[in-house]
Amino acid sequence: MTGPIVIIGGGIIGCSLAFHLAHYGMTEVTVLEAGLIGEGSTAKATGGIRQQFSSEVNADLAHEAVDYYAHFADRVGEPFDFRQHGYLFLLKSAEHRAQFERTVAMQRRLGIDARLVEPSDLGEIVPGINAADLRGGAYCPTDGSGSPADAVAAFARQARRRGVRIEQHTRAVGIRRDGDGAVTGVVTADRTYPAGTVVNAAGPWARRVGALVGLDLPVEPRPRQAFGIGPLRRLTPDLPLTVDLASGAYVHPEVHGGIVGGNDRDTPPSEEPTVRWELADGVISALVHRVPWLADAEIRSGWCGLREMTPDDHAIVGPCEVPGWWNLVGFSGHGFMQAPVIGDHAARWMLGRADARDLSALRLGRFAEGALAREAAVF
Ligand SMILES: Cc1cc2nc3c(=O)[nH]c(=O)nc-3n(C[C@H](O)[C@H](O)[C@H](O)COP(=O)(O)OP(=O)(O)OC[C@H]3O[C@@H](n4cnc5c(N)ncnc54)[C@H](O)[C@@H]3O)c2cc1C
Repeated sequence: MTGPIVIIGGGIIGCSLAFHLAHYGMTEVTVLEAGLIGEGSTAKATGGIRQQFSSEVNADLAHEAVDYYAHFADRVGEPFDFRQHGYLFLLKSAEHRAQFERTVAMQRRLGIDARLVEPSDLGEIVPGINAADLRGGAYCPTDGSGSPADAVAAFARQARRRGVRIEQHTRAVGIRRDGDGAVTGVVTADRTYPAGTVVNAAGPWARRVGALVGLDLPVEPRPRQAFGIGPLRRLTPDLPLTVDLASGAYVHPEVHGGIVGGNDRDTPPSEEPTVRWELADGVISALVHRVPWLADAEIRSGWCGLREMTPDDHAIVGPCEVPGWWNLVGFSGHGFMQAPVIGDHAARWMLGRADARDLSALRLGRFAEGALAREAAVF
């Protein structure tokens, strides 16, 4: 890697990468953000950090991320409120039970404290739950949640403090390349930023940015709904984020009230994040079947953001056939939780450090090779 690094996209991924590059001594770094820092998908994320994934690479990245978020203040130098309230997946079908038996065993091998729970024991974790037609649950008490806005602001602030330039309201509109096709600069409305390395960290808009160098990245923006509910006596912040896997509906307890959503997994791709209020009743009724006291839940707010989905629900990370071009894209709805670890290891890799984690499982080439990494636990 020679010359300055320009990162296109100032969401949690771009800012985490910028922070880690500067942390390892590389300060010739500029982040170009079309709007304001963190105002893309990161602003819409509901803040879940969980290790219960079905693929080893996703589970292991999340395991490292839990440790990172738990020690965020030591690593980044700013406070971060990581509430480890746990995640509970409710399993209705024999297929889901068998799947989680396999994946919990894999997660435990990685050191993750996940466990299967029999239906008769679920009431100890979520009082009042209706487990009559369930085959059990999968519970991990060290999973949790935190504020994406706090994390992205901390990465951006600390990156700046270490010398990174962050240009807001600055959209990348073109890429300069030399005779060999290697990137040499990023063009904006006002000027060209010289670059030896250009990083695509454009979230749901990654395909558009990849097209600037002729790449057709398999990243689709898919709208995702979330609804805020008011406080309920029994909805205490220590309850786990509970997912009814049969419907996809989840309830995420917060300090005051909570968030519900998750029944819109099959929404077609679109760049229009329109709130679909008509989905709120369906979420609540799926949840009430499981947790009857949620019948008193009152929807108080709703929002919609774009999740950046790939065909196998895994991110695309690393360099590719365009010399000097890196992709950190396609986080498929888990970019907030993976951001610290991806930013850290991608920075080490980019700087040629020997202590970078092997992220080759997330290479772009896997799609052409037909070597997709499947993830069954995205809801
Ligand atoms: C409702 C919802 C809930 C979610 N919940 C979770 C969760 O619980 N846990 C989790 O881990 N993840 C969650 N996610 C996913 C998470 O939000 C994303 O994976 C993460 O924010 C991706 O970060 P990013 O930096 O890649 O993208 P973004 O935050 O979208 O940042 C990309 C940035 O690139 C900028 N940009 C685009 N094009 C250009 C250009 N040409 N020039 C300059 N800048 C450009 C955009 O303005 C944007 O700010 C959720 C997403 C949604 C929508």
